[in-house]
Amino acid sequence: MSRWDPRVAIAAKRDGRTLDAEEVERFVAGVAVGEVSDAQAAAFLMAALLRGLDDGETLAMTRAMIASGDTVTLPDVGAPTVDKHSTGGVADGVTLLFAPMAAAVGLAVAKLSGRGLGHTGGTLDKLESIPGLRTDLHPDEMARQVAEVGCAVVAQSTRLVPADGALYALRDATATVPSIPLIAASVMSKKLAVRTDLILLDVKCGSGAFMRSERDARALASTCRGLAEGDGRRCGVAVTDMSQPLGVAIGNALDVAEAVDVLAGRTRGRLRDLAVFFVADAIVSLLAEPLDLARGRAEAVLDDGSALERFREMVAAQGGDPRVADDPWSVLPAAPVRRPVAVDAEGALAEVATATLGTIATSLGAGRLRKGDPIDPAVGIVLEIGIGDVVERGDVIGTVHARDEAAATAAADAVRRALTFAQPPVTAPPLVLDHLPAGSLTRG
Ligand code: URA
Repeated sequence: MSRWDPRVAIAAKRDGRTLDAEEVERFVAGVAVGEVSDAQAAAFLMAALLRGLDDGETLAMTRAMIASGDTVTLPDVGAPTVDKHSTGGVADGVTLLFAPMAAAVGLAVAKLSGRGLGHTGGTLDKLESIPGLRTDLHPDEMARQVAEVGCAVVAQSTRLVPADGALYALRDATATVPSIPLIAASVMSKKLAVRTDLILLDVKCGSGAFMRSERDARALASTCRGLAEGDGRRCGVAVTDMSQPLGVAIGNALDVAEAVDVLAGRTRGRLRDLAVFFVADAIVSLLAEPLDLARGRAEAVLDDGSALERFREMVAAQGGDPRVADDPWSVLPAAPVRRPVAVDAEGALAEVATATLGTIATSLGAGRLRKGDPIDPAVGIVLEIGIGDVVERGDVIGTVHARDEAAATAAADAVRRALTFAQPPVTAPPLVLDHLPAGSLTRG
């Protein structure tokens, strides 16, 4: 019998043929066990990005990615379980807030997250900037932590969706991220591998998202939801604005410090608002409470310190230094150079090249250029203004955190070029552009 040849599937996709489920499954299984080389997997990804994958291929890819590892059924953890995932944004630290907030309101969060991808930051890289913190939990450890602490945020591993781990790192390094089927299969394989009662998806849209138009964001939302419902899972979806960074911090340790400020009730703004939105949505869907009460409970756990306490417990349970919750910069790595960024324009901030800000952070060292590159957890950008804010020439609007002076100068210039000012007034887009709450179970 002849040996299986991965080049057949690559050539077929290159030439625009629709692969049958078996061909997709064989290829993905080959990726997971290292039978397909990185070069072959990358060629397949580029062909898939350029030629597209239809619904059948996307479903087959998602299923094969799940089948590459274990499926985690959580034991009875004494609370309804929820998972929330973003399709990728800039200064998007919602998961760092959502997990402890949802735990504090009496839900349980079991979440497989990702690393930085393209110009976007990744929750795992952010969490790992906390000294000692591990994200490579065994599925049993994850389940135990969810039962004990109420939340766990964990990485793909050789046991959990390994095919996504392999393809994700290659997509990051080969500019093959912005594809609806590839994003949907990546996100949903992780969501379907862990059987929570509810999945919430944050589909980002705008200049800092992989989906720049609302039309594409809605298409991604609908593909993801279709995959969830096809598997008998409840899934709520929101399309949210990414035409500017969500929070102020673009980096890793910087994002953790910002998240702690929000969890401690010290910082208001769009990042907090979106975390409250998703926690309230989870309460409405899982505990059947009215929306205004749900919002009140989500706000209360930020204002009374109980979400911060859960964060501290989660960090400690995963081996991290819990002092991060009291005084983040006593434990987080800080960059040696801090360069204030002053504007050379005046008027209202009208447009942000948000993906460019993510790319600037990557070039400072906050993200990877090649698969497996180490990242610098300390560097990044803090941008203190948002769309509609009015500035005068010379106003300091943020800070670049860099390893050296040359990198700081280049990044500060690039940040200035990424911002466009106009005659005021300028109105910021709404935070939530579309929302389809979870329905009742369609099957299963
Ligand atoms: N998050 C993921 O897990 N995968 C993607 O492709 C994008 C965001």
